[in-house]
Formats: sequence, C-alpha cells, structure tokens
Amino acid sequence: MSGIVQTVSCLDGYDPDALRVGKAIEAIKVCLSPVQEVEVVEIRKALGRILAQEVVPDINVPAHDNSAMDGYAVRSSDLSEKETMLEEIGVALAGKPFQGSLGKKQCVRIMTGAVMPQGADTVVIQEVVKREGKRVVVPPGQKKGQNVRYAGEDLAIGNAVLHPGKWLLPAEIGLIASLGIGEVKVKRRLRVAFFATGDELASIGMKLKEGEIYDSNRYTLHGMLSRLGVEIIDLGVVRDDPDLLEEAFLKAAGTADVVITTGGVSVGEADFIKQLMAKLGEVLFWKIAMRPGRPMAFGKVQDAYLFGLPGNPVAVMVTFYQFVRDALLHLSGRTDDYAVPLLKATTMEKLRKVPGRTEYQRGILYREAGEWKVRTTGQQGSGVLRSMSEANCFIVLEHDRGSVAAGEAVHVQLMEGLA
Ligand code: AMP
Ligand code: MG
Repeated sequence: MSGIVQTVSCLDGYDPDALRVGKAIEAIKVCLSPVQEVEVVEIRKALGRILAQEVVPDINVPAHDNSAMDGYAVRSSDLSEKETMLEEIGVALAGKPFQGSLGKKQCVRIMTGAVMPQGADTVVIQEVVKREGKRVVVPPGQKKGQNVRYAGEDLAIGNAVLHPGKWLLPAEIGLIASLGIGEVKVKRRLRVAFFATGDELASIGMKLKEGEIYDSNRYTLHGMLSRLGVEIIDLGVVRDDPDLLEEAFLKAAGTADVVITTGGVSVGEADFIKQLMAKLGEVLFWKIAMRPGRPMAFGKVQDAYLFGLPGNPVAVMVTFYQFVRDALLHLSGRTDDYAVPLLKATTMEKLRKVPGRTEYQRGILYREAGEWKVRTTGQQGSGVLRSMSEANCFIVLEHDRGSVAAGEAVHVQLMEGLA
C-alpha cells in the first residue's frame, strides 16, 4: 500500500508485519478501556454479568450458631470420659428455636439448621446416643464444639465478600441472595456489532447462484458472541463496495463499543478496506505469525474498537478465540484471569509444522489407559469448518517449534468452556 499512513496511537512500536501472537494480544490489550457505565439489575438477571460494586454483608450468614446435624445439643462440660446420662428438656427445629436454656446435665433434641439453645456448645449426632424415655445416654469421645456451625462463618458482617469485576455465576447469585439483597450494580453489557463482507456471500433463504456460498461466519460469530454475554447487533452481509462498507462501518461504530467484521482483510482484498480505514479511523493491518488466521485488522473507528477478522471459516473462529474473546472480556470489565488454560497431552501422530508461526491445529483430546492423548481431526485447511466441529481442542504449536513426532507432549486448549 502506498500513500496511506496506517497508525494507531496506542500501538506505536508494534511491527504490523509478522507480529507474534503474544505481541498481538499485548498490543490489543494496551488499547482497550473497559466499559464504565453501570446499571442496577435484579439478581437473577445478574447471572453472567460483571459486578460493579462491593458486596458487604450487613448480616451474618448464618445469622446464629446452629446445628450441622440432627442430634442432641449438649453442654460439653457435662460430658465425662464414660457414658453420660442427660435429660431431654425440649426440641429445637430449623426455624423454631428452643425457648429456654440448658441447665446441668440437660440436653435438647436438635435438627440441622436449628439455632443452638442457650447454654449448649456441642451437638452429639442422634445415631450414637441411646434413648430411654426422656433420658439420653451419650457415649464418650465427643469433642467440644463438634457439629456446630457458627454465626458468620460463611459471611461475616462488614467483611466485603464480592468485589467489582467479579463475574457473577450461580454461586454468587445465591450468595447475594443469602444476604437478603435483591438487586446489584453491574457493568452495562458491552455492545458488539458485526457484519460479513463478500460479493460471493448468499444469505440463508436465497438460492445459491454460481460461485456463491452461504454466509456461515455471521452465524459462528453470533454463537461465539452469545456465549460471552454481550449485546449483539447483527448488521448482515455487506457487498464489497466502498460506499456500502463505509455506511456499514459508520453505522456499526455509531451503535456499538466494538465492531467485528469478517472477510476482506486478505492481501488481495485488503487495499480498498485500508483506504476506507485510513479515512474513517485508525486501523492497523496485521500479518500475524499464526495459522490459521494470518491477516487481521485492529484499531478504532470513531470511538469503537474494530476487529477485522479473516473470512475463512476456521480462521475467523481461531482469531476470535485467540484475540477477540479475551479483549471482549476485558472490555466487559472482567478482572480475573480468564485466559483459557493450556493443558498438556501426548500427540499420537506426527504433526507437520514449520518454525516461525504459532499453529492452532484442530484436535481431538481423549483418554486411554488414564493418559490424555490427542490426535488431529485430519484436514487442516482454514476453510474446513467441519474440523472445528469435530475437534474438542486446539493443539497449540508454539512459534519456534518445528514438526512434532508421535509420542511428544503438546499443549492443548479445550474448546468446551470457551465462553
Ligand atoms: P476473504 O477474507 O474475504 O478473502 O475470504 C477468504 C475466504 O473465506 C473465501 O473463500 C471466502 O469465500 C470465505 N468467506 C468469507 N466470508 C465468509 C463468510 N461470511 N462465510 C463463509 N465463508 C466466508
Ligand atoms: Mg472476501
């Protein structure tokens, strides 16, 4: 490209040609600022959202010392090293405390969750006692304080338990409910607009003309975005036409925090998109040292971040998972370490690879005689979407690595849980 200066102010110093995967991830991250706006939602609606407040208990959970078992509430000072005979003076049920207090050699029958009666400090499980009318015989060997749950042992008044940035899952929703809180402040959802470009793309419901294919990337993207809990704006298919593309970019950037496109960034096609980007925003066109997914654009159009992903169906998924997923989670306000872990497995076949790029081969991870092994799905062309469907993991072959022999250890990244 001559005549066009491509710059992105936050990306000074990153060489757009032959950028390593790790560098590209780093470069993207330095440009991103997470959403700031918050909203208040009912806690069931907070599932999958990012907390934007501290949650500080103003009650203890549990609120009272209570029994962890069905049995007898006793005073440990009454128990001897032999059997101890106690008198049962009442019952404590969950929600129906025993009114009164234990005197010497007295006990109260108690159910799980019932408040510990005054004077009692220990619960003896019902299975070990002998009962004779109102007399209860406790065997030796009981420990002071056993089977008692203490007030505040789960959540204590004043001790912040959830912090801003926390991704709210079912446990957190329940925990907030256990404090009697019905609404929480969360970050507003990230808005992501996307469209596919290509003159060969037909939409579902249209009859394919010669040379056309159905647009599948918009559907894969829709699926991947749905699992991240972002707000999705699908802008459809846009022809390879500068005016239509300009209109689409402006519309997307005007409504969303992030714009994702697929197609049009490969060497043969990128030129006029580059012209357009130079006019509309600050976008870098990267040749990333990876396979699949080498060409990718990143930058800003107006206030929106732009990810220009490749058109090949596997490449769009690989680049989404390796770059866009983490960027969207960061922008959404997640502060935990959400990177997808790399696990080790033994490859059962030779894997062809040249040093100088990171490869994401599609693999099937399986267990044999207690050992995790992996094989490829076969054909690794970046147009073979079937390989993504058959795979349950990426086999991640590092930048400097060459071909791998059968029996060697490789890193894999599980696809399940790639949300
Ligand atoms: P491009 O990046 O536009 O050069 O496209 C690379 C390859 O991906 C071409 O074979 C395209 O036909 C194909 N492709 C591009 N966009 C899509 C799409 N939305 N769905 C399926 N295949 C696509
Ligand atoms: Mg194209």
